[in-house]
Amino acid sequence: NGKSFFVDLTLCTACRGCQVACKQWKDLPAEQTRNVGSHQNPQDLSAHTLKLVRFKEVRDKKGELRWNFFPEQCRHCIEPPCKYMLNMYKSNAVTHDSKTGAVVYNESVTLSKSVDLAPDQLCPYNVPRKNEETGQWTKCDMCIDRVQQGLKPACVTACPTGTMNFGDRDAMLEMAGKRLEAVKKTHPNAFLADPEDVRVIYLCQSDADDYASHVVAQAAHKQAIWAQVRPAEQTRRQFLTGQFKFGN
Ligand code: SF4
Ligand code: SF4
Ligand code: SF4
Repeated sequence: NGKSFFVDLTLCTACRGCQVACKQWKDLPAEQTRNVGSHQNPQDLSAHTLKLVRFKEVRDKKGELRWNFFPEQCRHCIEPPCKYMLNMYKSNAVTHDSKTGAVVYNESVTLSKSVDLAPDQLCPYNVPRKNEETGQWTKCDMCIDRVQQGLKPACVTACPTGTMNFGDRDAMLEMAGKRLEAVKKTHPNAFLADPEDVRVIYLCQSDADDYASHVVAQAAHKQAIWAQVRPAEQTRRQFLTGQFKFGN
């Protein structure tokens, strides 16, 4: 069953410990940013920012302002479309670890700079980012090096509030189910974001749009990505197994 994260957004204080821990563990450089009137910093994921705490100001039903925080990262999809898409351009660009379920972009593989893809063509959560200098696609790798040594991902270890949790998938699903039940008593619209499809399971206390875009995957978006993948992947498999016939 592999591993999973449970991210309880009801507890997040936007301290950004997870964001900083990710930078430190991955030894990623700082980015030049500017104040745009929000505490969110930087404004987007990038090849140098694999984890980003998004801030969104919303009004609740009583009309009172509330900050919602969304520590965003790759969801490590159970069936990751980015793997099929990128491996169509270069085999082994992406591996899917059978023990943990981590979806890992191979650092030694770069695509030709002429391959022109947008993040949302690869991912229904709009997560991966291209390093424009190297042509390499990047994203969170579940801290697979730590996890294989029995440690938790750096962002989970750094979180002081219990928002970020990590462990065996069954245990995380159980924890998520129990917390959802408890939170629903005061927030009846609370929900888990795509728990069957991903290994990073967010508990939201109100609508997905109250947090950020791409908190949940849209069915039409997923279909559009898979429509690009499946025929080509089938053709590649037919080639490899000697079943391909010209004129198919
Ligand atoms: Fe790939 Fe996006 Fe799924 Fe991460 S969330 S595994 S980048 S498709
Ligand atoms: Fe960053 Fe590791 Fe957390 Fe992924 S699991 S967001 S790489 S610290
Ligand atoms: Fe939220 Fe925990 Fe990240 Fe702080 S470390 S921003 S509480 S998820």
